[in-house]
Amino acid sequence: MLNLSYDAVIIGAGAAGSMCAITAAKRGRKVMLIDHSKKFGEKIRISGGGKCNFTNAHCGPDNFISTNPRFCISALNQYTQKDFIDLIESQNIPYHEKKLGQLFCDRSAKDILALLKDLASKYKVHISLAENNIEVQKVESGFKIATADKKIMCQALVIASGGLSIPKIGATRFGYEIAQSFNHEIIKPRPGLVPLTFENDLLAHCKHLSGLSLCAEVTFEKTSFREGLLFTHRGLSGPVILQISSYWRDGGSLIIDLLPKHNVKNFLKKKRNVQNPQNIQTILSDILPKRLVQQICVETNISGSLANISNIEIQKLSDRINHWQVGPTGTEGYRTAEVTVGGVNTRELSSKTMESNLQPGLYFVGEVVDVTGHLGGHNFQWAWSSGWVAGQNI
Ligand SMILES: Cc1cc2nc3c(=O)[nH]c(=O)nc-3n(C[C@H](O)[C@H](O)[C@H](O)COP(=O)(O)OP(=O)(O)OC[C@H]3O[C@@H](n4cnc5c(N)ncnc54)[C@H](O)[C@@H]3O)c2cc1C
Repeated sequence: MLNLSYDAVIIGAGAAGSMCAITAAKRGRKVMLIDHSKKFGEKIRISGGGKCNFTNAHCGPDNFISTNPRFCISALNQYTQKDFIDLIESQNIPYHEKKLGQLFCDRSAKDILALLKDLASKYKVHISLAENNIEVQKVESGFKIATADKKIMCQALVIASGGLSIPKIGATRFGYEIAQSFNHEIIKPRPGLVPLTFENDLLAHCKHLSGLSLCAEVTFEKTSFREGLLFTHRGLSGPVILQISSYWRDGGSLIIDLLPKHNVKNFLKKKRNVQNPQNIQTILSDILPKRLVQQICVETNISGSLANISNIEIQKLSDRINHWQVGPTGTEGYRTAEVTVGGVNTRELSSKTMESNLQPGLYFVGEVVDVTGHLGGHNFQWAWSSGWVAGQNI
């Protein structure tokens, strides 16, 4: 059994934990970064389709979901996307904007991993992977961390163990359990940025159109997103569905506008006024994918020349296209979710330092906290910002 002593121990060698460790070590703190996984930063490696969407040029508090929406402001202001971009540029890592301010590595997410590893090594962060059965105990002088073969004393303890998504690469409930053992409340976690699933007729509809994508606007209650929608053999996916999934609640319905730039009712009425109007399917196929039009016409049982189509039928088509109401039966779950919505209640943390208000010396950073970003690099920015802030204070 090894007996060790550090100023700070950080549990979770992902984006938030490594940023926190590097920041503290750069300030001269003696820091240990531990993880149960055999590999460092696995989620970074698989992120952004292997190219890591490492931040978003337009990142701001409105891009986050939390039961305490203002909590993220301080950390995002203390360490901004510009700070992370400067870090990337200082290491000559080539990157590009894909769309909507989303910044990706030109080459590979491995560039970000290499950057973090190099900095950790430069500032002498002690990284210890494959640490199993980690136990935490509060003692008078700080915290005692026990692993299978080590006993580590530290004054500050940072929990950076992430959320529940992708269990097969190491996600666990560890962070929530530690938080609860110190009397923190957990806002009930649920999968976010995840495809939605359907049953019965809707599932058959999605299966039939599997592979088809188009730009759509999707609304749940007061929240709307307009981006790409993809029909799959399990239901609906694509960026617009991933975005709304973080807001969707069991039993709720979505309103989908499959043609957000057109008012189908006005369009069809105008077309009906011309001489010898064409077949409805031909007309709609000018503005929507043909496969989708065929499916909608079969479902609504509307066919033939537009000249013979009534106002009621036009309304029916318009509702089906501009105001399609669908009730998902669920999500694909943590197996494919990019994030976990919910987590450690931020009302019990300091927004300036990420320290627990209930237990001095204990910090929570990254996805384990009830702050969840929209798709597009915002989750990594939260990991960098919250990790950096804690790293300045431990
Ligand atoms: C497929 C996929 C793609 C993504 N792409 C993007 C993207 O391009 N841009 C973006 O902004 N976000 C993306 N995300 C989200 C982003 O990866 C996370 O929000 C971010 O990694 C969270 O950082 P974190 O450090 O808080 O947690 P994590 O990166 O999850 O790190 C937590 C660490 O804690 C360790 N750990 C867990 N339990 C224990 C335990 N019991 N004991 C010890 N260690 C433990 C884990 O092994 C892990 O190394 C993606 C997520 C997924 C799943």
